Amino acid sequence: MKNDFNFCPACGSKNIQNVKMRKWLCQDCGFDLYNNVAAAVGLVIQTEDGKVLLEKRAKEPRKGFLAFPGGFVDPDESAEEACLRECREEIGVEPLSLKYIASFPNTYDYKNIQYKTCDIFFEAVLPKGAELHAQEGEVLGFEEVFVRNEKEVAEIPLAFESARKTLSLWLEEKKNDC
Ligand SMILES: [Zn+2]
Repeated sequence: MKNDFNFCPACGSKNIQNVKMRKWLCQDCGFDLYNNVAAAVGLVIQTEDGKVLLEKRAKEPRKGFLAFPGGFVDPDESAEEACLRECREEIGVEPLSLKYIASFPNTYDYKNIQYKTCDIFFEAVLPKGAELHAQEGEVLGFEEVFVRNEKEVAEIPLAFESARKTLSLWLEEKKNDC
Protein backbone atom coordinates (compact mmCIF):
# COMPACT_ATOMS: atom_id res chain seq x y z
CA MET A 1 0.00 0.00 0.00
CA LYS A 2 1.68 3.18 -1.19
CA ASN A 3 -1.10 5.75 -0.73
CA ASP A 4 -0.43 7.17 -4.20
CA PHE A 5 -2.75 9.61 -5.97
CA ASN A 6 -2.66 9.87 -9.77
CA PHE A 7 -3.64 13.53 -9.83
CA CYS A 8 -3.47 16.54 -7.53
CA PRO A 9 -7.02 17.13 -6.20
CA ALA A 10 -6.43 20.91 -6.39
CA CYS A 11 -4.85 21.51 -9.82
CA GLY A 12 -5.06 18.14 -11.61
CA SER A 13 -1.28 17.91 -12.10
CA LYS A 14 0.32 14.47 -12.18
CA ASN A 15 3.21 15.77 -10.09
CA ILE A 16 1.71 14.82 -6.75
CA GLN A 17 3.86 12.75 -4.49
CA ASN A 18 3.37 10.87 -1.29
CA VAL A 19 6.01 11.98 1.19
CA LYS A 20 7.03 9.23 3.64
CA MET A 21 3.41 8.07 4.00
CA ARG A 22 2.80 11.23 6.01
CA LYS A 23 1.40 13.64 3.45
CA TRP A 24 0.76 14.33 -0.22
CA LEU A 25 2.56 17.25 -1.86
CA CYS A 26 1.91 18.69 -5.32
CA GLN A 27 5.12 19.93 -6.98
CA ASP A 28 3.15 22.25 -9.25
CA CYS A 29 0.66 24.14 -7.04
CA GLY A 30 2.00 23.43 -3.56
CA PHE A 31 -1.12 21.57 -2.43
CA ASP A 32 -0.21 19.84 0.81
CA LEU A 33 -2.54 17.25 2.38
CA TYR A 34 -1.54 15.63 5.65
CA ASN A 35 -2.33 11.98 6.27
CA ASN A 36 -2.33 12.51 10.02
CA VAL A 37 -2.51 9.76 12.60
CA ALA A 38 -6.14 9.01 13.51
CA ALA A 39 -7.29 8.41 17.08
CA ALA A 40 -9.21 5.22 17.78
CA VAL A 41 -10.50 3.54 20.93
CA GLY A 42 -10.88 -0.06 22.07
CA LEU A 43 -12.51 -1.48 25.20
CA VAL A 44 -11.49 -4.45 27.30
CA ILE A 45 -14.86 -5.48 28.72
CA GLN A 46 -14.94 -8.27 31.27
CA THR A 47 -18.08 -10.39 31.43
CA GLU A 48 -19.67 -11.60 34.67
CA ASP A 49 -17.98 -14.99 34.35
CA GLY A 50 -14.56 -13.40 33.96
CA LYS A 51 -14.14 -13.64 30.20
CA VAL A 52 -13.32 -10.79 27.80
CA LEU A 53 -15.94 -9.71 25.27
CA LEU A 54 -14.74 -9.62 21.67
CA GLU A 55 -16.46 -8.90 18.37
CA LYS A 56 -16.04 -10.82 15.15
CA ARG A 57 -15.43 -8.19 12.47
CA ALA A 58 -17.96 -8.05 9.65
CA LYS A 59 -15.85 -5.70 7.52
CA GLU A 60 -12.39 -5.39 6.05
CA PRO A 61 -9.70 -4.88 7.14
CA ARG A 62 -9.29 -8.21 8.98
CA LYS A 63 -12.85 -9.42 8.38
CA GLY A 64 -13.71 -12.45 10.53
CA PHE A 65 -10.98 -11.72 13.08
CA LEU A 66 -11.69 -10.65 16.64
CA ALA A 67 -11.49 -7.12 17.97
CA PHE A 68 -12.51 -5.11 20.99
CA PRO A 69 -15.66 -3.03 20.78
CA GLY A 70 -14.45 0.40 19.61
CA GLY A 71 -13.59 2.44 16.57
CA PHE A 72 -12.39 5.79 15.30
CA VAL A 73 -12.88 8.90 17.38
CA ASP A 74 -15.31 11.29 15.66
CA PRO A 75 -14.47 14.98 15.10
CA ASP A 76 -15.09 17.07 18.24
CA GLU A 77 -15.41 13.97 20.41
CA SER A 78 -13.30 12.86 23.37
CA ALA A 79 -11.83 9.36 23.55
CA GLU A 80 -14.20 8.59 26.44
CA GLU A 81 -17.23 9.78 24.46
CA ALA A 82 -16.09 7.65 21.52
CA CYS A 83 -16.00 4.60 23.83
CA LEU A 84 -19.59 5.13 24.93
CA ARG A 85 -20.87 5.86 21.41
CA GLU A 86 -19.07 2.94 19.76
CA CYS A 87 -20.42 0.54 22.38
CA ARG A 88 -23.97 1.86 21.97
CA GLU A 89 -23.62 1.31 18.21
CA GLU A 90 -21.74 -2.00 18.12
CA ILE A 91 -23.00 -3.93 21.14
CA GLY A 92 -26.18 -2.00 21.99
CA VAL A 93 -25.07 -1.25 25.56
CA GLU A 94 -23.32 1.68 27.16
CA PRO A 95 -20.43 0.48 29.36
CA LEU A 96 -19.67 1.70 32.90
CA SER A 97 -16.53 2.58 34.84
CA LEU A 98 -14.20 3.46 31.98
CA LYS A 99 -10.58 3.27 33.03
CA TYR A 100 -7.59 4.08 30.83
CA ILE A 101 -5.17 1.21 30.21
CA ALA A 102 -2.66 2.28 27.54
CA SER A 103 -2.27 3.39 23.94
CA PHE A 104 -0.47 1.64 21.08
CA PRO A 105 0.18 2.57 17.44
CA ASN A 106 -1.63 0.57 14.78
CA THR A 107 -1.91 0.32 11.00
CA TYR A 108 -5.28 0.20 9.28
CA ASP A 109 -5.40 -0.73 5.58
CA TYR A 110 -8.71 0.23 4.00
CA LYS A 111 -9.57 0.46 0.30
CA ASN A 112 -5.98 0.94 -0.85
CA ILE A 113 -5.16 3.64 1.65
CA GLN A 114 -3.04 2.93 4.68
CA TYR A 115 -4.02 4.83 7.80
CA LYS A 116 -1.80 5.05 10.84
CA THR A 117 -3.74 5.17 14.08
CA CYS A 118 -3.09 5.73 17.75
CA ASP A 119 -5.33 3.20 19.48
CA ILE A 120 -6.39 4.23 22.99
CA PHE A 121 -7.53 1.40 25.25
CA PHE A 122 -9.85 1.43 28.24
CA GLU A 123 -11.28 -1.22 30.46
CA ALA A 124 -14.96 -1.12 31.34
CA VAL A 125 -17.81 -3.21 32.69
CA LEU A 126 -21.36 -3.75 31.47
CA PRO A 127 -24.42 -2.97 33.56
CA LYS A 128 -25.85 -6.07 35.26
CA GLY A 129 -28.11 -8.11 33.00
CA ALA A 130 -27.20 -6.09 29.89
CA GLU A 131 -28.40 -7.65 26.64
CA LEU A 132 -25.98 -7.36 23.75
CA HIS A 133 -27.08 -6.51 20.22
CA ALA A 134 -24.54 -6.82 17.39
CA GLN A 135 -24.54 -3.93 14.93
CA GLU A 136 -25.53 -5.19 11.50
CA GLY A 137 -22.84 -4.75 8.88
CA GLU A 138 -20.11 -4.12 11.46
CA VAL A 139 -20.25 -7.06 13.86
CA LEU A 140 -20.80 -10.71 12.83
CA GLY A 141 -21.23 -11.80 16.43
CA PHE A 142 -19.65 -11.91 19.84
CA GLU A 143 -17.09 -14.23 21.37
CA GLU A 144 -16.23 -14.37 25.03
CA VAL A 145 -12.74 -15.66 25.72
CA PHE A 146 -10.70 -16.39 28.80
CA VAL A 147 -7.59 -14.24 29.14
CA ARG A 148 -5.78 -15.81 32.09
CA ASN A 149 -2.24 -16.18 30.78
CA GLU A 150 0.07 -15.24 27.89
CA LYS A 151 -0.66 -18.49 26.07
CA GLU A 152 -4.36 -17.64 25.92
CA VAL A 153 -3.54 -14.11 24.73
CA ALA A 154 -1.37 -15.56 21.92
CA GLU A 155 -4.08 -17.98 20.78
CA ILE A 156 -6.88 -15.44 20.24
CA PRO A 157 -7.34 -14.72 16.50
CA LEU A 158 -7.14 -10.96 17.03
CA ALA A 159 -7.48 -8.54 14.12
CA PHE A 160 -4.88 -6.10 15.42
CA GLU A 161 -1.63 -6.49 17.34
CA SER A 162 -2.36 -3.35 19.35
CA ALA A 163 -5.19 -5.33 21.01
CA ARG A 164 -2.82 -8.20 21.80
CA LYS A 165 -0.33 -5.82 23.42
CA THR A 166 -3.16 -4.35 25.46
CA LEU A 167 -4.37 -7.74 26.68
CA SER A 168 -0.82 -8.68 27.73
CA LEU A 169 -0.44 -5.43 29.66
CA TRP A 170 -3.93 -5.71 31.16
CA LEU A 171 -3.15 -9.27 32.29
CA GLU A 172 0.12 -8.15 33.85
CA GLU A 173 -1.60 -5.32 35.76
CA LYS A 174 -4.34 -7.67 36.99
CA LYS A 175 -1.69 -10.05 38.35
CA ASN A 176 -0.03 -7.21 40.22
CA ASP A 177 -3.38 -6.20 41.73
CA CYS A 178 -3.84 -9.65 43.31
ZN1 LIG B 1 -1.53 20.73 -7.60
